[in-house]
Amino acid sequence: MRELAPYLKLYKKHWFSLSLGMLLAFATLVASIGLLTLSGWFIAAASVAGLTIARETFNYMLPGGGVRGFAMGRTAGRWGERVVSHDATFKLLADLRIFFFKKLTPLIPGRFSKLRDADLLNRLVADVDAMDHVYLRLISPIIVGTLGIIALTVFLCWFDMTIGLTLGGILLSLLLVWPVLFYKLGKHNGTHLTQNKAKLRIATLDWVQGHSELVLFGAEPRYRQAITDHQDKLLKNQFKNANLTGLASALLLLANGWTMVLIIWMAADGMNGQPPGPMVAMLAFATMACFELLMPIAGAFQYLGQTVESARRLNEVLTATPDIIYPESGTESCKQASIQLNNVSFQYQDSKEYALNNVSIQLQAGKKMAIVGQTGSGKSTLLQLLTRQIDVTAGELSIGEHPIQQWTEKGLRQNISVVSQRVDILNGTLKDNLHLAKPDASDRELATILHEVGLGHLSDGSGLDAWLGDGGRQLSGGEKRRIGIARAILHNSPILLLDEPTEGLDKQTEQQIMQLLEKHSVDKTVIFVTHRLIGLESMDSIGLMEQGEIVELGTHKTLIAQEGLYHRLHQRL
Ligand code: ADP
Ligand code: MG
Repeated sequence: MRELAPYLKLYKKHWFSLSLGMLLAFATLVASIGLLTLSGWFIAAASVAGLTIARETFNYMLPGGGVRGFAMGRTAGRWGERVVSHDATFKLLADLRIFFFKKLTPLIPGRFSKLRDADLLNRLVADVDAMDHVYLRLISPIIVGTLGIIALTVFLCWFDMTIGLTLGGILLSLLLVWPVLFYKLGKHNGTHLTQNKAKLRIATLDWVQGHSELVLFGAEPRYRQAITDHQDKLLKNQFKNANLTGLASALLLLANGWTMVLIIWMAADGMNGQPPGPMVAMLAFATMACFELLMPIAGAFQYLGQTVESARRLNEVLTATPDIIYPESGTESCKQASIQLNNVSFQYQDSKEYALNNVSIQLQAGKKMAIVGQTGSGKSTLLQLLTRQIDVTAGELSIGEHPIQQWTEKGLRQNISVVSQRVDILNGTLKDNLHLAKPDASDRELATILHEVGLGHLSDGSGLDAWLGDGGRQLSGGEKRRIGIARAILHNSPILLLDEPTEGLDKQTEQQIMQLLEKHSVDKTVIFVTHRLIGLESMDSIGLMEQGEIVELGTHKTLIAQEGLYHRLHQRL
């Protein structure tokens, strides 16, 4: 239950509309109980009056007006309550979703990048949605229910103390017992229901995303079966849930019936010493109506298990601290875009060996360095350190003579452009995909860049509004890479990091891209990571990496002259 605490705090911001919602709910309840109670008395009193001399004087108008007033009040109240409280809860959910997203973003490069897309989506959508139960199904019915019981008891005590207190006592004990009972009964199933819902989403998305591969390798039926299995489990959970809802209503109706019998029995001898009269009918109807205030509570608590599980899943993200925390204020820019690494080592959390070992690099502003080495030698890890996706395990890393820890995230991003090994294309227009790097770029600027990187054909047809990614045009590996390069050129920052930008491209394209990069990196500090030893003559320095260490360092000429590993690798070409 403690899991729900952070969400209760969220109600502060919308306290006014939420309280108004409760007030309207209370008014509706009063109208509802009042309607049945007054009608019960009215019909009984009218018939009694008809039999006696009182038929001449009985006032039909006032109670008749009251009944109509209560009926209209109930309708209007219910409508108002729904509008106000749903509006408030939707706003609250929107806030919560944004809050969750803001907390989630800095966690992504770290441990949370291991969470599945579908799982995150489920947290962001279904689990956040479940939080509306806290108000609509828990707080509001309990507060309104308690107030209703008190009001009804006071009202009935006015006529007969014993009967009023008896009914009040019964309702109050039901209000205390029911939630606890149904929370206990529904908890286990509710937790599993929430988990199985998430698993079903994950399995379905797996199947949709990998559909062509699954079909090609004949694994499709197995994956489809997994969906069916999860669905069956979820259906079982929902079946149990429906049973519980039925049980809660049935038991409540049973309690209602027996309470009515008891109250009628108590009232049958007359109330407050008076002989029995139409008031007996009033009491009977009041008893019948007052169970309306318990109805929402009976159902609500079996959902509490689900809500608590959803809250737990959200809290996992909300209370996590990011691996990397950027300073609020700090370095925003530097005079000289130099790069210094002093004895930098790095070890991945779940790995025994160091991915980087005692690496030292001094790169002055405007100089270009190539990092070469086989796959797995630690080249991409080095670039991740420079963009602070990860922090050094030991050693010092400075950008522009400022330790990287002093840079603000905004400053660091503005000063470094990266073409990463895997370029992500967002599901959006071509323009969206480029604007990411330079939000204020004009259409003309974007078109020019597209032509330069050889992607002019993408804007044929719908122009820059062409849709990319899911539901749109799928790009080849080479095209994605060029989008990455176009972004880096648009971003235009003093430091340029390239992670195998020409990997997987044909020779001709490779040359074009290299020329393009050369043209756009004239005054920039560049680190160019590659495993192909081609075109490195123009580099100011070359570092050869092996198993996380820089084993050879120099220019193309000096390294060839050394006749070491670089020389051998180069000769193999
Ligand atoms: P390169 O880019 O030179 O091919 P990487 O920097 O990607 O090499 O990887 C260096 C080493 O670190 C490899 O042995 C790789 O398996 C390991 N590694 C890379 N990423 C991770 C990770 N997230 N967790 C654990 N080990 C990793
Ligand atoms: Mg790599």
